[in-house]
Amino acid sequence: MKPPPVLTVQGASMEYAGGVRALDAVSLAIGSGELLGIVGPSGSGKSTLLNIMGTLDRPTRGTVEIGGQDVTLLSDRALSALRSRQLGFVFQQFHLTDGLSAWENVATGLLYAGVPRRRRRPLALEALARVGLAHRTGHPPHQMSGGERQRVAIARALVNRPALVLADDPTGALDTATGNAVLDLLTALNDQGTTIAIITHDRDIAARLPRRVELRDGRVLSDTTVADDGRTA
Ligand code: ADP
Repeated sequence: MKPPPVLTVQGASMEYAGGVRALDAVSLAIGSGELLGIVGPSGSGKSTLLNIMGTLDRPTRGTVEIGGQDVTLLSDRALSALRSRQLGFVFQQFHLTDGLSAWENVATGLLYAGVPRRRRRPLALEALARVGLAHRTGHPPHQMSGGERQRVAIARALVNRPALVLADDPTGALDTATGNAVLDLLTALNDQGTTIAIITHDRDIAARLPRRVELRDGRVLSDTTVADDGRTA
């Protein structure tokens, strides 16, 4: 039997004050082990969709289920607990803390999940090793390149083994070669079983993803999966 989706968005609409409809009845299911891109031009609703998938915003209509639970009904407190346990976030601008070393930045991903202090360092070091930074664990972000900073941020997103990693334009602040290397890393982590959704408006990055959900004017324009043999389904 097919496992239930990690995350399901059902008929989600988002209306902002002033009548802007950023999402219009969007439905989407993400299965365990998927690597998908959410693509579309600026203003098509990508960030709004990511925010509701990440439980940072509630849709004005429709539901979001994570691990089979309707999260639109949860209190803010229950939501932040769920976020820290089930979701990992990667941002375009990394959002690392400069006064902390790489491993301390990664360990912040464990703070709110209630992992005891003595367990945080070994888990952070292990996550940094997974992203190829075992040799840079004590460095602060300002002594690292953009690509290295994004690897630290990816390690922070992964450290708690979340059900789903949400990456908001993770290559947008990087040059093409570094961006491709970051995508190589995300692809390798996906091959090891991590479920990842990536927002991008970069066509070359999007072309490398096995599933692409294309948004236009707040609606799903297409949802395309490339089979292992390279054919689209
Ligand atoms: P994308 O990420 O694809 O660029 P967004 O989700 O940011 O698109 O925006 C979708 C639409 O919603 C746009 O028309 C945008 O101007 C509008 N929008 C986004 N956030 C807000 C907000 N907080 N208040 C009002 N309108 C918003």
